[in-house]
Amino acid sequence: MDVEPESGAVQAHGGDTETLLLARWADRLPDLVVLVDADGTLRYLNPAAIAALGRGAEPFIGRTLVQAGLFGAEADTLRERVRSAFAAAVPTFNLTWTRDSQGIAVYAVDIVPDAQQRRALVHAREAARPASEPTFRTLTEHLPDVIIRYGANGRAVYCNREIDDQVSVSALRVVGHTPSEAAPPGMRGVEGYEAQLWRTLRTGEPGTFELQVPHPDGTLRVHSVLFSAERDLHGTISGAIAVGRDTTEQVRIREALAAREREFRTLAENADDNIVRWDEQARMCYTNPAFTRLMQRPAELLLGRTPLDLAADERYRPVFAAVQRVLRGDQPEMLELRLEDPGRAAQVHQIRFVPEHDERGGVCGVLGIGRDITEKAAYLERIEALVRTDPLTQLPNRQALLERAPALLAASRRHARMTAVLLLDLDRFKSVNDALGPAAGDELLCESARRLASCLRANDLLVRQGDDEFVVVAPDIDNAESLGAIADKLQRAVAAPLQLLGRTVQVSASIGVALFPGDADTLEALLVHAASAMQHAKRGGRGRTEYYRRELGEAVQRRLLLESALREATRGAGLVLHLQPQVSLQHQDRIIGAEALLRWQHPALGLLSPDAFIAIAEDNGSIVPIGHWVLHTAAESAVRCNRGRAEPIRIAVNVSTRQFVGDDVAASVARVLAETGCEPAWLSIEITESALLEQSARVHKAFDALHALGVRIALDDFGTGYSALNYLARFPVDCLKIDKSFVQGIDRSTREAELVKAFIAMASALNLGLVAEGVETDAQAAFLRGQGCPQAQGWLYGRPMPVAQFETLLAGKAMNA
Ligand code: C2E
Ligand code: MG
Ligand code: MG
Repeated sequence: MDVEPESGAVQAHGGDTETLLLARWADRLPDLVVLVDADGTLRYLNPAAIAALGRGAEPFIGRTLVQAGLFGAEADTLRERVRSAFAAAVPTFNLTWTRDSQGIAVYAVDIVPDAQQRRALVHAREAARPASEPTFRTLTEHLPDVIIRYGANGRAVYCNREIDDQVSVSALRVVGHTPSEAAPPGMRGVEGYEAQLWRTLRTGEPGTFELQVPHPDGTLRVHSVLFSAERDLHGTISGAIAVGRDTTEQVRIREALAAREREFRTLAENADDNIVRWDEQARMCYTNPAFTRLMQRPAELLLGRTPLDLAADERYRPVFAAVQRVLRGDQPEMLELRLEDPGRAAQVHQIRFVPEHDERGGVCGVLGIGRDITEKAAYLERIEALVRTDPLTQLPNRQALLERAPALLAASRRHARMTAVLLLDLDRFKSVNDALGPAAGDELLCESARRLASCLRANDLLVRQGDDEFVVVAPDIDNAESLGAIADKLQRAVAAPLQLLGRTVQVSASIGVALFPGDADTLEALLVHAASAMQHAKRGGRGRTEYYRRELGEAVQRRLLLESALREATRGAGLVLHLQPQVSLQHQDRIIGAEALLRWQHPALGLLSPDAFIAIAEDNGSIVPIGHWVLHTAAESAVRCNRGRAEPIRIAVNVSTRQFVGDDVAASVARVLAETGCEPAWLSIEITESALLEQSARVHKAFDALHALGVRIALDDFGTGYSALNYLARFPVDCLKIDKSFVQGIDRSTREAELVKAFIAMASALNLGLVAEGVETDAQAAFLRGQGCPQAQGWLYGRPMPVAQFETLLAGKAMNA
């Protein structure tokens, strides 16, 4: 602030020359110039000094510096300096003075005593005064903050008007005082405030302090005060400015936030749920203890981990995929995770991923809340299972059937196989239930379920559809026979007697069958068809199986018929043995033996050829007793044929591979020879190449045993099988039978003829017997004879005929011979 020299200033000093001279120089100076006595009494003030004191000069002359209040609170300091200046020179020093409530000025002060040590001249030059003082003032007066300016002595030199509104203290009480002097009653923390002020004044470092301040309205408010140092032109700390702002609201919010944060933290830390937060790079930035326990890793190893760090663990891939999706897509997600760690029970966790948003609404992280739902999942699984299980029999129920059948049918279609749907209803279940009570009825159902289940293959599905009704879905059906076998097996299983309440009970089942894809395309339609077939079976007299398609039913019926009839036939009923002559081509077609060929006189189907029933007999095992019957009958005939003959007649018996491999053929033959008195030389055994393929030790043993008995072995259907030559080397057969397909090809193809020639040459080279089968024409016979084939068999020489007829033929020929 510029100091205007006041008029009349000159009159203010005394009239001595010294003073007048001084006044000439000092009156025009803007600096403050004062002349004092050694005791500090004022003798002269220049106009600038008078102006600075703000009043006329008169009252000050003759008063002391302290009384005049020149340099305000610093007046004492000044007086001390003046006093010491009489003893030694005092260097220029700074004095800070707030001349009114409008601001401070720093003066560089020189004290010059006169030679007589009577008086001293005080010359104060304004050294530092913020050039922008007016601007500062305008600014501070309009700021909503309380601004207090302190001098280097810690006393306020300025205070803006805000203080009147915000603190129950007046600016007047503040200026010129230290904070503790100015503190209104009720203010808290003033000691700390003052300490911070002094720290700033000493070090020049800014600092902050929070002060509790009584508001004029009586409330206690929080002021956050920022202290910053002020320096003069030389860089010396000349004071400090304290800017206080009412932050009560912010503090309240901050404290509320902190409290909430504490609450949430307590919640999260003590929650049983697993809580994880990921930042926007999908790095874990928080994990609660439950989660670290689950991961069996300390939080330090988890925090900061990116998905890539843990993604090596396959199990967590879905988690990180979900985090990434939520970060990108902003939609919450839910995930169920199954954790199967070695050494602890499997756990199922349900995790919710929720996006976290920043102030601008962008996704800045993901919150994951995972809950162990192992028990719930197991419970749900149990309920799920219950929904699909029949509680009584524990079989799948109709619901399971509806769910699983489409996949079975689709697979069946893919593999181009048939699938059968068998609907099975227990006959007379109701009467058992009524007679023996529901507990017995339940037991019957359970036992039936167990028996039915035991009949099924791995891929079959057995379902209890309700009451006494069961459904079997059997995929991979390749023919009517195997379907019939399944139905038959189910029937037998149900029909076996069982004990209920000490009584023997026997029930039967009516079965209706429909086939996919022949009968229908969908499970529903198949069930409807099977049900109608089943009704038909019931009407037909129970314990029966009916097929939705008539012709299929017939094929199956026929097989079932044959099967049960065959079991009868094993006791010999209906079996007939025919003999077909074998001749020597090189001896005028003389009969040298016969092949025994089996026929079956079926009560309903008439005379059946072996092709119609041997396979079934092989399947159900009746081939063994039937084979024994053939052997026995053939041996008896051989004995009769050879009675009184010099040249032996040899009867060839066909033995199926199943018999040869699975049964002790040699033992059977030995028994038959002993029983009938047949010579081993009168019998031979025909086997096919498939028997040789078995290659088992058993086959070798059978060969050896038959040879030991002296029975010849012929290889039937030679040429139609695999690599006959290979096997010939390993198995000691005695005779080959060229298959009729080659013989009948002789007329038609030279290739066939060449092959027959080769067979003949080979048999001769290996010294094997040879029979050409299926000789029907003279031309064939002539060719064979011409090539040196020793023996033949075929319609040309005689069809298979009843044993008696063959024996008569032989006797006649013998007589003719
Ligand atoms: P196989 O051993 O090759 O018997 C020869 C078959 O050819 C017989 O058919 C016979 O009747 C037929 N045949 C004979 N000469 C001619 C001919 O000139 N022309 C034509 N077209 N066919 C002729 P069959 O009796 O129907 O026997 C078929 C097969 O059944 C036999 O083939 C044999 O493998 C098997 N078999 C027959 N009887 C038995 C038996 O007691 N036990 C076993 N395990 N299998 C037998
Ligand atoms: Mg044969
Ligand atoms: Mg043959």
